[in-house]
Amino acid sequence: MSGRPEILFPLFGALTKLEGIGPKSAQILEGVGVVKPLDVLMTLPLSGVDRHRRASIREVAAPSVATVEVTVGDHHPPRTRGRPYRVQVEDAETSFQLVFFHARGDYLQKLLPTGQKRIVSGKVEIFDGIAQIVHPDHVLPVAEAEEIPPFEPVYPLHAGITQKAMWKATRSALGLMPDLPEWIDPALKTREGWPDWADAMRNVHSPQATSDLSPHAPARERLAYDELMAHQLTLALARAATRKAKGVASHATGALSKKVLASLPYKPTGAQQRAFAEIAADLATPLRMNRLLQGDVGSGKTLVALMALLDVVEAGGQGVMMAPTEILARQHMDGLRPLADSAGVVLEILTGRDKGAARAAKLKALADGTINILVGTHAVFQKDIAFKDLRLAIIDEQHRFGVSQRMELGSKGHAVDVLVMTATPIPRSLALAQYGDMDVSVLDEKPPGRTPVQTALVSSSRLDEVVAKLRHAVAEGRQAYWVCPLVEESEVVDMTAAEERFKRLRASLGEGVVGLVHGQMPHAEKDAAMARFVAGETKVLVATTVIEVGVNVPNASIMMIEHADRFGLAQLHQLRGRVGRGAAASSCLLIYQPPLSESGRRRLEILRETEDGFRISEEDLAMRGAGDVIGTAQSGIPRFRIADLERQAGQMAVAQSDARALLNDDPKLETARGKAARTLLWLMEQDKAIRLISVG
Ligand code: ADP
Ligand code: MG
Repeated sequence: MSGRPEILFPLFGALTKLEGIGPKSAQILEGVGVVKPLDVLMTLPLSGVDRHRRASIREVAAPSVATVEVTVGDHHPPRTRGRPYRVQVEDAETSFQLVFFHARGDYLQKLLPTGQKRIVSGKVEIFDGIAQIVHPDHVLPVAEAEEIPPFEPVYPLHAGITQKAMWKATRSALGLMPDLPEWIDPALKTREGWPDWADAMRNVHSPQATSDLSPHAPARERLAYDELMAHQLTLALARAATRKAKGVASHATGALSKKVLASLPYKPTGAQQRAFAEIAADLATPLRMNRLLQGDVGSGKTLVALMALLDVVEAGGQGVMMAPTEILARQHMDGLRPLADSAGVVLEILTGRDKGAARAAKLKALADGTINILVGTHAVFQKDIAFKDLRLAIIDEQHRFGVSQRMELGSKGHAVDVLVMTATPIPRSLALAQYGDMDVSVLDEKPPGRTPVQTALVSSSRLDEVVAKLRHAVAEGRQAYWVCPLVEESEVVDMTAAEERFKRLRASLGEGVVGLVHGQMPHAEKDAAMARFVAGETKVLVATTVIEVGVNVPNASIMMIEHADRFGLAQLHQLRGRVGRGAAASSCLLIYQPPLSESGRRRLEILRETEDGFRISEEDLAMRGAGDVIGTAQSGIPRFRIADLERQAGQMAVAQSDARALLNDDPKLETARGKAARTLLWLMEQDKAIRLISVG
């Protein structure tokens, strides 16, 4: 697979080769990412205009577009400057006027010679009781009538490019299309009634009716599927490449994890058992595991992680678990060390704060195998860290990392099993797009005994009441989080908002009752503030979103979120998940800054209605679109140009299984269909995939 197949060259040529596109238009289009004929083809019409021939404008209800043959009558040039130029015309049934502003008379005389027949098309309006078309879109001699498409596509436009230019450009790009071999599974294609690629392209650019513009029109579906298929093929290739590189199978009887389970006051949920069984099966094969453990906040992912770690330790290896923040790493260590102790397993923590001799000692213990399990921040993946026999790497709450970062982790020579844990429930189609290279286990069941969280919306104009209630709750011995939002992505402003709130709450609730944590605080202070809250010394913890991920304080039963309208739904759901972990009835107050927009209110109300993270994420997707839900730039999900993850959600799953099946039967993409799939990868510019094939 040395280079782009020649058959695709025309589609990757210069834009200026297209009719209607000069150097200036080309420059404008390049500015919006349309740099080659293929991009023009991938820019589908948004809507269409009905220009079917009519006998008379009377057949349409003004204001509406009509296309009719007329006999040109008298010209009426403007009598005073600034007035329009009018041309009287007559169709089969009635007469009306064509109206032009700032037009040159000689040009109009040539365009519309009195006494001759012309086809005109444009929007008919009634003005002062007279029917007229102002600046008709088309005026043509009858012989050239076919140039007006009966149903004219309307393209997304950019300043300086006209519909006519786009029309011409797409027509000439369509002329450059080669016939491409078919990469879609023939059975699927037949079942769906999909056209060939080139036919589909011609079809979407020549819609015959509004129904052809629907995302469910066969031609559009096919082209959307091509995009999804290319993406899933890339992921499937990445998956295959990852799985290949390992070698050691970690066989365990589960003896260690049984010991730990016996020391717990509860039993694992069915979902935890299922997930663990899937992971254990992966660990026991010599193929590399690349698995996602998806489970809502509080679903008990940590226990599953621990059992997996214990399995590799039992098999004689080591495991590492990386958390995104220092606070979380410490919490993991505090929670897990007693359990590890009960099984005689050595668990250590390593973060950026370990320095000098202490750090050196830990590194040595890792290298000689004295430490069985390491938890920590990203510091655990620093260059100079060597394990004796690392078998399993667990990445907690890693939803901010995308496909490419994971690929990097895999390429760093850590030929180990990888488990990524995420608490962000995302819609299935997005999960497949983002994590399609992985296998997925889901914790879809929460440990028993949780009390639902009462959620309410309150305006910031009632802050005094809110604080009064909080004082009351604190007097009863309850604990609360008070979260201040990120202002303008700036840590500094962020900090100021939290500090300001901290001072005020301290003034009204009392010295020593209120604590503060934010991202800019020195580590030691952050830890100390956290520890005081965990110990129940402080009752209210004012925080920025550093507490978002994972923090567990069972006695905290109140969550106040200031400027809730500025957070994403998933983030709010995560924050709310911090409470409702103990036996006490919990509440969450979403404080908003009025006026709240209609959609803003609807968003927040979803949180009031449900605690089901998956439902919240589906609603979030429906309201915001795919890119916003997870932040496309970071997620590694491409911006699909035709596919719509919301409306074509089901296709993503089909594309995944199709891509995996294809690679399973034809790992090197050598069969006819495999070769066609390569063409698809080139067509869709899946460079990563192409590199993977060249290597493999
Ligand atoms: P998350 O999935 O958000 O990481 P955690 O692993 O922190 O959730 O678990 C949340 C809480 O639930 C912890 O206090 C943990 O001890 C508890 N827990 C985990 N599994 C169970 C279970 N099967 N039964 C009861 N409590 C459980
Ligand atoms: Mg967790």
